[in-house]
Amino acid sequence: MQNNIERIHFDSMNTCNMCMMELENVYETLVLSPEEIDLLDMPKRTFTVHFPVHMDSGETKMFIGHRVQYNDARGPTKGGIRYHPELDLDGLKNLAFLMAIKCALVNIPFGGSKGGIIVDTKKISRGELERITRAYVREVSDIMGPFKDIPAPDAYTDERVMVWILDEFERIRGRHVPAIVTGKPIELGGSQVRRISTALGGVYVLEEALQTIEQEMRSPCVAIQGFGNVGRNAAKILHEKGYRICAISDSSGGIRNVNGIDILKLMEHKEQTGSVLGFPDTTEISNEELLVSDCDILIPAALSKQIGKDNAADIKAKIILELANAPTTLEASRLLAEMGIMVIPDILANAGGVVVSYFEWIQNLNQDYWKEEKVLERLKYTMTTAFANTHNICADEKCSMRKAALQFAVRSILHAERLRGNL
Ligand code: GLU
Repeated sequence: MQNNIERIHFDSMNTCNMCMMELENVYETLVLSPEEIDLLDMPKRTFTVHFPVHMDSGETKMFIGHRVQYNDARGPTKGGIRYHPELDLDGLKNLAFLMAIKCALVNIPFGGSKGGIIVDTKKISRGELERITRAYVREVSDIMGPFKDIPAPDAYTDERVMVWILDEFERIRGRHVPAIVTGKPIELGGSQVRRISTALGGVYVLEEALQTIEQEMRSPCVAIQGFGNVGRNAAKILHEKGYRICAISDSSGGIRNVNGIDILKLMEHKEQTGSVLGFPDTTEISNEELLVSDCDILIPAALSKQIGKDNAADIKAKIILELANAPTTLEASRLLAEMGIMVIPDILANAGGVVVSYFEWIQNLNQDYWKEEKVLERLKYTMTTAFANTHNICADEKCSMRKAALQFAVRSILHAERLRGNL
C-alpha cells in the first residue's frame, strides 16, 4: 500500500500537525492505512476552559486552561499539567500524542493526555497559584477520574499543585480518590522514587545504551541543560555514580569545568543564590554554548526545541539523552542520525516519570504501598525492557532509536484499536 502522506489534512483545525510530522518518521517502515492515519491524526477530545480567579490585588482575572486527551485505546489517558505563559493548544496536542506513545512504548496500560493553564508562575503569589489551580480543577473535574484521565506534574507544576488538584477533586466528589492524580507527596499517597523517577529511568536507559556502543567511554564527560527537577536529579545520580558532569545550566545560564562539577555543593549554591552561576572553579557559558560544548553525553533536560537545524551540526556529544519533552526538532533529528550520534529519544529517555506514576496509581487503587526496592526493581525492569525492544528494532531495520520507538508504540496503539473493533 502507498504511504498516505497526501491524505493528511495539514490545514484541518483539529489535526495535530506536529504529531503527523513525527509519524512521517515511521512511514517508510510502517505503512499505515487511510483509516489508521485518520485515527491517529487527531486527538480524541480537546477541552478549553475560561474561568475567573480573584487576585491578591482585589481584581478578578480570567484564565484559560486546556486539556487534550489524545488516545485511550490502551487505558485511561495519562499526562501532566503544565503552567506556562506561552502554552498553546497545538503544542499540547503534540505532547498528549507523545504521552500516548510513551505509555505504549514502556507498555503501561494508559493512553495519553496533556493539559495546562496559560499563566506565568513567576508573576503570581502562592495564594493566586492555589486559587487558579482549584478553579481549573472545578472546570475539568467531569473529564478527570482514576479510570478516565489522570493528571501529573509537568513544567512549572509540582507536588504542591498535585495536592491542590487532589483536594479540590475530592471535595467535588465528596470522598477520597487518591488515584485521581499522581506525583503526590508520600504522606498523601505518593510513591517512593517518584520524585527522581524521570531522571533515574533516563540513567537506566543511558547505561544500557553505553553497553551497546563499540568504543568504551572511560569517565565520560556529561553536559546537562537544565537544573529543574529532572536535570538536577540526573546530575546528582550521575555524579554519585562517578560520571564527570562537565557543564550544567539553568534558565540564567551555564557553568563549565572539564574536571567535573561537585553537584551536591552546586545544589547548595543554587539554594542560596537562586542560580548555578558564580559557582567556584567554573567558567560561565551560555545555554547555547553548553549544547555544542565538548562532551561525550549531552542531556537536554529543559524545554522543547533546543536542538534545531542551526546548532545540530555543531554538537560534539556521541550520545544525546533527551530528558526534556521534544528538545530536538525533526530536521535536527535527521541531521543527528546522519552524523552517527545516538539519540535516546524523549519517549524512551524520560518515560521513568510516567512509569512510576503508574506504580503510584496501582498502589492508590490497592491501598497497598510498596517499599523503595520494589519500585526501583520494577522501574529498572520496565525501562530496560523498553530499551531492548527499541534497540532490537534499530538493529533489524538499521534505523534511529526515535524511529524504532515510534514504530513499536504506534503498532501497539493500533493493535489495541483493532482489538476494540475501531479499525
Ligand atoms: N509530565 C511527565 C511526562 O511528561 C509525567 C506524566 C505522568 O506521570 O503522567 O512524562
